[in-house]
Amino acid sequence: MDQQKTNKKPVVVSGARPTGDIHLGNYAGAVANWIALQDDYDCHYFIADYHALTTHYQDTSELRDLTLRVAADYIACGIDPDKVILFLQSSVPEHAELSLLLSMLTPVSWLERNPSYKDLVNELSKLEIRTLGFLGYPCLMAADVLMYRANFVPVGEDQLPHLELAREIARRFNHLYGTTFPEPAALLTKSKVLPGTDGRKMSKSYDNTISFADAPEEVQKKVMCMVTDPARIHKTDPGHPEICSVFSMHKEFNVEDSEEIARLCRAGEIGCVACKRRCGAAIAKFHTPIHEKRTALLAQPSQLIERLQEGSKVAQKKAKNMIAVAREAIKIGF
Ligand code: SF4
Repeated sequence: MDQQKTNKKPVVVSGARPTGDIHLGNYAGAVANWIALQDDYDCHYFIADYHALTTHYQDTSELRDLTLRVAADYIACGIDPDKVILFLQSSVPEHAELSLLLSMLTPVSWLERNPSYKDLVNELSKLEIRTLGFLGYPCLMAADVLMYRANFVPVGEDQLPHLELAREIARRFNHLYGTTFPEPAALLTKSKVLPGTDGRKMSKSYDNTISFADAPEEVQKKVMCMVTDPARIHKTDPGHPEICSVFSMHKEFNVEDSEEIARLCRAGEIGCVACKRRCGAAIAKFHTPIHEKRTALLAQPSQLIERLQEGSKVAQKKAKNMIAVAREAIKIGF
């Protein structure tokens, strides 16, 4: 393990907030990519519980529980803590210190023009997120990636502005105090967007997810309720698979049968109920082993916590070094 973690593979850093159980949409959009990178890169993956507080600070009753559930989901999906550094952000409080240092030199105007800021303030108006912590989350994000001298950050096109902001903050630091931080580059990923049960993007906020916490029978029920081509009333009506959420699931989880399904649908030779059953069976093949593994992992929470602590210790060693470099550059402390 240690040898793999000290080799010279390019460094990748990525994190996700523990604000809900991992679902199929998260898997297709990010987790599958994390897994694909873990052999070829020196991956630092973290559960971003400080970031969770930027929007969910008012009710933290489930935060620890969610942290463990997300850790179990990641490992059950195939993220291997023996290959990557899997850690908990708040167990490496140096992230908070570096974020504070970066916030000293980050103009408020840069934070206010962050495209997500206004969108999320409106979208999450019930959560009252006009806080200093939320406005400043790009500083924390920059700290997360600069801390480990990330060469790459896996991002979709829509997240490029966030990365650019982290790069700008790094440049400003380097300009003021001498070169310290390499600017992380984007590792552009084609993140797939899966539809949820209601046809909109699968997302916790729409309550339309199929998560790995769902029992197999619940998954089947959800698939049977998915919206399909609304123009299709009778089994013999020619369908349009390209606009059907169930078909998107076939393409992801039932690849080898998807062409045949599309043909049968267009020809009106398969009913939506039968099609959903086939889809549910294909999803179950993928979902059930992960569900069972995450259930087994969660039955031993102390082992899971230990795994996170091990990863956090490795991360913290690196973080302490980086904080020492940053403090020296700024000339604070002795
Ligand atoms: S047959 Fe399948 S692909 Fe066609 S509309 Fe019905 S559920 Fe969708």
